[in-house]
Amino acid sequence: MTLKLRCEDYGFECQYEIDEEKSVSTIEKLRNHFEEEHGIDYTVEAVTQMIQNRGHSLESIRK
Ligand SMILES: [Zn+2]
Repeated sequence: MTLKLRCEDYGFECQYEIDEEKSVSTIEKLRNHFEEEHGIDYTVEAVTQMIQNRGHSLESIRK
């Protein structure tokens, strides 16, 4: 199962998206994008919570 994350779903005007096999590194990748492209240093926990708030279960985003 793949996990699709779009940056614009998290409040940015940005075309960045990730569409890949789910794994913890998917969260890390999005977190790094927020930091590098938007200058916001979220914690992994915060990003995980944001993804959950978008309707993804914890099981679907973490192995
Ligand atoms: Zn972005």
